[in-house]
Amino acid sequence: MGAHRGRPRVRSSGVTLGQLQDLMTRVYGRQDAERGVPATVAWLAEEVGELARAVRKGTREEQLHEFSDVLAWVASLANQLGLSLDDAVARYAAGCPKCGSTPCSCARLVG
Ligand SMILES: [Zn+2]
Repeated sequence: MGAHRGRPRVRSSGVTLGQLQDLMTRVYGRQDAERGVPATVAWLAEEVGELARAVRKGTREEQLHEFSDVLAWVASLANQLGLSLDDAVARYAAGCPKCGSTPCSCARLVG
């Protein structure tokens, strides 16, 4: 988490996951530390539920709103655990983590 400190202010687009984590640290770092991991997991789960509802019957604007909340809570949780989302997404950098192909050549679940 400390490695993210001191980076330039993020722009409205082109933000990396590390920059999102840095932004969440600066905006919510104190509240995150006081809330703790279990309550953060509960909030994240609730936001995922809201995203699911918005996908089913929300407008695109509402869906985008819920995506931003889910991303913010994922970043806050990773911050509290001292994990890098850039490291997490690197698992997919070379394609499907299972078969190593792009596009994935694993057996399809449906169809
Ligand atoms: Zn695959």
